[in-house]
Amino acid sequence: MNKMNRITIGMNPGPARHSTLRGYHFGMIGCLVLFFLPGILIFAQPGAPVAKSSAPDSGKWALVIHGGAGGPARGTMSAESEKEYLVKLEEALKRGSDILAAGGSSLDAVERVVRFMEDCPLFNAGKGAVLDEEGKAELDAAIMDGRTGMAGAVAGVSVIKNPVTAARCVMEKSNHVLLIGAGAEKFAKEHGLDLVDPSYFITPERLKAWEKWKSGTQTKPAAPADKPGNSGPDAEKHGTVGAVALDQQGNLAAATSTGGMTGKMVGRIGDSPIIGAGTYANNQTCAVSATGHGEYFIRNVVAYDLSSLMEYRGLSLEEAGKSIIMDKLVRQKANGGLIAVDREGNISMPFNTNAMFRGVAASDGRHEVAIY
Ligand code: ASP
Repeated sequence: MNKMNRITIGMNPGPARHSTLRGYHFGMIGCLVLFFLPGILIFAQPGAPVAKSSAPDSGKWALVIHGGAGGPARGTMSAESEKEYLVKLEEALKRGSDILAAGGSSLDAVERVVRFMEDCPLFNAGKGAVLDEEGKAELDAAIMDGRTGMAGAVAGVSVIKNPVTAARCVMEKSNHVLLIGAGAEKFAKEHGLDLVDPSYFITPERLKAWEKWKSGTQTKPAAPADKPGNSGPDAEKHGTVGAVALDQQGNLAAATSTGGMTGKMVGRIGDSPIIGAGTYANNQTCAVSATGHGEYFIRNVVAYDLSSLMEYRGLSLEEAGKSIIMDKLVRQKANGGLIAVDREGNISMPFNTNAMFRGVAASDGRHEVAIY
């Protein structure tokens, strides 16, 4: 419930017993309305941050980001390239933490971070996305607001520059949750989002990885990993970016964006845009963004499973995250990891792969970027 509603309810005088009293109440209400009108008008403007009004500022915020799990094993990446990733993770963190430290909403922060990572060619999302069996980038993204329980997603899109912003637009400006392909692109165009030629997403590195995949597995679809932690070819096939945040008003949000997996079938949708699988946020429990072999994350409803373990079994964020990634998924030989934050600002970043590009920043001074 927002501040405006609380004020209205708090001042409700109940049924008036006689007309003088009723007149007095109407007078009082009139004065109150006039007094609060400027604030009401500010909050009523389209685009004003809705999350601002849900609770008094706690001063506490936290942000966790990932740039995908399943990267190369320690020692196989050059020092320069490791540095390049760490610098970009730092920049992404800064974009989100600036918003949160200034009292902005978790929703704005996660969208901003993911947009930045979509624009960065190092990560498998937006520009730099991996390529499907036909050598095209088909992108998926989702966003969820833990305060309202609203969510939006797009899948299989190839001309929307920032799929995460299209996902937010679906959440805020349509009656739907998930739009795919041409329909999602038409919707993005109607709402004035940036569109690009499909070639914009293709980088020389991803083309090389695709050619390698094509020459080795021409007739086979992308195969699952032999075992978690695999540093072989499968580890190069995916990535994904994501962010989860707690803002000073106590609101949680999550966003994820991906190109999926190299050599995926045309039309294949991963877990990232599936609410509850790769992306989930609920103010009562946590916000989650996952990365890894999407089919397993869909079948195990990973993000919602984490929230449910907290809600129904009373597990801590850390216990729930670990039990899914290090136990349940490992037993299924499923590669991946996740990032999560709960309403207290606790964070969890488990992964069962060699590496997961990740970062955390929080109001209590926690600040870290890491790969292994
Ligand atoms: N989860 C993504 C997908 O399967 C890929 C990844 O995170 O690596 O589409």
